[in-house]
Amino acid sequence: MRIPFSKPGTTISNKTGSWKAFRPEIDAKKCVKCAICHNFCPEGIMGNPTKIPEIDFEYCKGCAICEVECPVKAIKMVREPLKEK
Ligand code: SF4
Ligand code: SF4
Repeated sequence: MRIPFSKPGTTISNKTGSWKAFRPEIDAKKCVKCAICHNFCPEGIMGNPTKIPEIDFEYCKGCAICEVECPVKAIKMVREPLKEK
């Protein structure tokens, strides 16, 4: 029996953005630029922490940690559109 496995690698080499079924949307009017989401994002892809998050969706894996941690509920996870095969 063969066991499937993937090679270890950094986020730079693994574009984790293809994993997500949901993506975070930021409500800029609610965001108070506290940078909490920046600190919790496991990918570190939310841009300048002194500004409203600008997410790099090439690497956002849709984990929703940012949504859970945002103290003012400025982040909402929305369904990714289905991709054509
Ligand atoms: S969903 Fe996860 S990976 Fe994407 S921006 Fe939020 S915390 Fe980062
Ligand atoms: S945690 Fe929420 S309020 Fe704070 S910077 Fe992120 S989106 Fe803005």
